[in-house]
Order: sequence, then C-alpha cells, then structure tokens
Amino acid sequence: MFFRQLFDPASSTLTYLIADDTAHEAVLIDPVADQVDRDVRLLREHGLSLKVTLETHVHADHVTAAHALKRATHAQTMVSVDCNAQGYDKLIKDGDVIVFGHEEILAIATPGHTPGSTSYLWRDRVFTGDTLLIGGCGRTDFQNGSAEALWHSIAEKLFKLDEQILVYPGHDYRGRRVSSIGEEKRFNTRIAGKTREEFLAIMKNLGLPMPSLIHEAVPANLAGGRSAPGGALDAGTVPVLSVSARQLAARMQFSVLRLIDVRTPEEFAALRIADSINVPLDRLDPAALAAKYGLDEALYCVCQTGTRSQFAAQMLRQAGFRQVVHVDGGTNAWAMAGLQLVRGSPVRA
Ligand code: FE
Repeated sequence: MFFRQLFDPASSTLTYLIADDTAHEAVLIDPVADQVDRDVRLLREHGLSLKVTLETHVHADHVTAAHALKRATHAQTMVSVDCNAQGYDKLIKDGDVIVFGHEEILAIATPGHTPGSTSYLWRDRVFTGDTLLIGGCGRTDFQNGSAEALWHSIAEKLFKLDEQILVYPGHDYRGRRVSSIGEEKRFNTRIAGKTREEFLAIMKNLGLPMPSLIHEAVPANLAGGRSAPGGALDAGTVPVLSVSARQLAARMQFSVLRLIDVRTPEEFAALRIADSINVPLDRLDPAALAAKYGLDEALYCVCQTGTRSQFAAQMLRQAGFRQVVHVDGGTNAWAMAGLQLVRGSPVRA
C-alpha cells in the first residue's frame, strides 16, 4: 500500500493519495485545483496511474482538481449522487465500493455538513471530509446542511466504526493531521458526551462567517472543477441575488416572475412550483434565453435543494443577465415552508 497525506495551505485542505503500489493504481480524495502540478508530479515520481478522484462533498472553500486531473491523467471523477453535481463521471451512493488495483474503498453516506457529504473507508482509516474533523465537525448553516443529519451521521454511523480506525479529516486549521474514532468519541468538543439536543444547540449558535471563496468554489465544484460554458468561471464570478422560498412566494403574489426550474424533466414532472418553466441544467443555454427575453429580464432559478440553481444563476449572470435570483433551498425549502407544489401532469415549457 501507498499513502500520502497532502496539504493545501491556502484552504487548509487535506488531500489523500492512496494507491496499490503493486498494481500501480491510485486514488486521490479531495484534490485541490491549485495543487494539480504537485499531485501529477507525485504520481509520476512513484510510477502510479491515477484511476479515480473522489470528493467527500461539494466544497465551499476551494475548487476541486477533479476535472484538471481527468484531463492530465484520464482518471474517473466521482462524487455523491446527493451532491446534485454535474460533469462528474460517476455518481456514487451509500455502500458503493470503489475498486483500484487489489484495493477497495467503501463509500459511507454521511450527510449533514452538506446533503451529499460522504466518508470513505479504506483499510484501517476513514476519510471523513468535513463531516468529522479532529475535535470538531463541519458547519451545517449553508449548502442545505442539517445538524440533525450530521448528528446521525457521526453518532450512528462513524462512531459505530471500530475505535482503532484512524480518522483523516478534510481540513485542519491547527496543524493536526490524524485522530481515531476512539479519540473523537472521547474528546470531540462538539459531540463527545453530548446529547443530541446539546449538539443541535451548539450547531445552531456557531455564528461563523461565510467562507470567502463560496461563490466561486461551489458553482465550480458542482461542475467537477470545470469552467462553465464560455469560460464563465475562469473569468471570475459575479454576484447572484438570492431569496428564500417565502420571499419568492410573496413576490409571486404580486407579479409574474420568470421562474426557471433547472432540475431534470422527470423531477419537474413529479412536482414543481406553479408557473415555473423547466430548463434542465445540462440544456441551459444563456445565449438562447438572452435572445428570447433580453438581458434586463429578471430570471429566478430554482432546483431541488439550491445547488444546481446556484450554478445556473452564475451562468446566466456571467452571460450578461443583470437580474438573476437564486431560490435558497429550492423546492425542498418551498415544501418545508408549507407552500403549494403542483404534482404530476407536467406543463410544457
Ligand atoms: Fe466543506
């Protein structure tokens, strides 16, 4: 076996290179776009062929190197199906096994920090992303996070692993590099010895600032670290406004809004907000919409959880639309707010 823990100082991201050094096949977990040269050099130095890149989630603090590494090495890019991301080669789910050489990695869905957060178990170690950090855990106050789900993922899934299993997190800001399930069960300040209610109260009152890169990193990572069509993300991002489901409903009472639902036709057919039109993200053509509506038309983007719509909004904004509004939390938030959804018999877009 071959194992390297790598560190990106700008984002404090920990990337992991693991390999079967008899078959010379490798996997990178959470590679960082700014560190592609380092990673390619390391692979080359050790005669390893990169088979797969794995994401623990859609990151808000750095752009993934998945797409760049695919171009450099032909590695398959993978992310959880629950991340609602596009442009990856394979969408993985709980219990999937990723095989490379004679080695296997087990994907364990550990939602909470984000809905698609996934931990990866390999031999005697688990790569926990931002689900379980050394002495802490990822925040749950954006990207559709859920403290309830995070409690379940840590207490009921990760803490059920053997206490000797080594914990390799996605970040550490204080120079720590490895822990174990046993240590975290005893010393993790957010969850060790806490009741579920105490944990939920802690998570509710963290009061953290937004990550500085969130508006660039999230849309880029939803596309596997690839630029949006037209090089949009390369050219830098531009602000997108957002509204809550309730704010949107209030606005819809008083005016006719152009609400674009970027989910798949199947999702749209099953349920949707009345008067929305379906333009699936993979068919979103900002130039065609500009020709149809003009760049001064206000466009509202919605999806199921608010991740795909954020990406769509960014594309439209970059294409020159002056008023693009993203619906926070998507149709899930709409339903949670007790607002009406239309179900079945789709309306033609
Ligand atoms: Fe994160």
